[in-house]
Amino acid sequence: MSIVDLPLLPLGRGNDSNSERGVDCPGDLPPASDPDLVARAQAAKDALGGRVFVLGHHYQRDEVIQFADVTGDSFKLAREAAARPDAEYIVFCGVHFMAESADILTGDSQQVVLPDLAAGCSMADMAALSQVETAWEALADAGVQAQVVPVTYMNSSADIKAFCGRNGGVVCTSSNAETALSWAFEQRGPDTKVLFLPDQHLGRNTAVLQMGYSLDECVVWDPHRPNGGLTAEQLNDARMILWKGHCSVHGRFSPDVVDELRATIPGVQILVHPECQHEVVLKADLVGSTEFIIKTIEAAPAGSSWAIGTELNLVKRLADQHPDKHISFLDRTVCYCSTMNRIDLPHFVWAMESLVEGTVVNRIEVDEQTQAEALVALQRMLDLPGKTAKD
Ligand code: SF4
Repeated sequence: MSIVDLPLLPLGRGNDSNSERGVDCPGDLPPASDPDLVARAQAAKDALGGRVFVLGHHYQRDEVIQFADVTGDSFKLAREAAARPDAEYIVFCGVHFMAESADILTGDSQQVVLPDLAAGCSMADMAALSQVETAWEALADAGVQAQVVPVTYMNSSADIKAFCGRNGGVVCTSSNAETALSWAFEQRGPDTKVLFLPDQHLGRNTAVLQMGYSLDECVVWDPHRPNGGLTAEQLNDARMILWKGHCSVHGRFSPDVVDELRATIPGVQILVHPECQHEVVLKADLVGSTEFIIKTIEAAPAGSSWAIGTELNLVKRLADQHPDKHISFLDRTVCYCSTMNRIDLPHFVWAMESLVEGTVVNRIEVDEQTQAEALVALQRMLDLPGKTAKD
């Protein structure tokens, strides 16, 4: 069935003139070019046996996810990789920062492969180390650096995680952001501030909606403006210094569509990821990580109606897996994560067949010092008290 025929898009198929340049949203994904690819992927996987462990992020295409030994969000997948010390090769069907995290958490003898090196993440790319170091110096010039704890979302490059590691900070996921922020706010006394990287929306939604900070206590650091576009006074008054980064997929959902769907679908419940804009999250019924979204739909009663604000591959898969529930996509524009979709069957087969032939292609390797410092920030997260919220 074509995606345009699905009730997944109850408001019809629109387009968005604000789409990022280069992000085309054509609708259906094209079928794999070679019908033999499925058999070739399976043959390569069989030939490699226990030597390879294939990880598939929830936002991957069906044609790739069918070969995953385990599926999950970025943190779950990194943990799964770490729990397979016998696998010589970890083939990561996800994006670059995830493969870096897997390399950091796996043994030296294990090799992590990303089937297409162009599978980056626009959010992670919005915080470059040089920009963050410039911001850190500016915080010192403003006289507030000693009060600031850097916290980075898992969706960041290894060198940003390492920056947090060497500056007393921590990594967080969308499942445990509140716990990580609570920990961070205790580190420098009552005047502690947090520099939250790189997703302003996750930082704002967690601080305001889960922890009771006000919007006035949040400021946005724009790395493209002198001093982040902020005065020393604004920095001094702030508790949350939010990096001006966002997810190009989750940032698209709008409060207007929430209103329209509520008017169109009786009893619909709006379920969104915390990477969505604050105005969208405010209008939602439930907010949580991809794992939370999956569990919520699994537990939902037959006949219930849901509009979901997360990546379309996952929403479409949930709709296919739960035909007894009414599942819609929270956008008029059919738009996948363009970088996640770089991992397609031809790239997967190429990576796997290369391994069968003894050639490791597209290895992702994080240098030793970055690994060690990033691991400090990751370990602080693993040591956080209690069960992660909504995990
Ligand atoms: S969905 Fe957003 S955060 Fe995830 S990989 Fe794509 S751009 Fe990055």
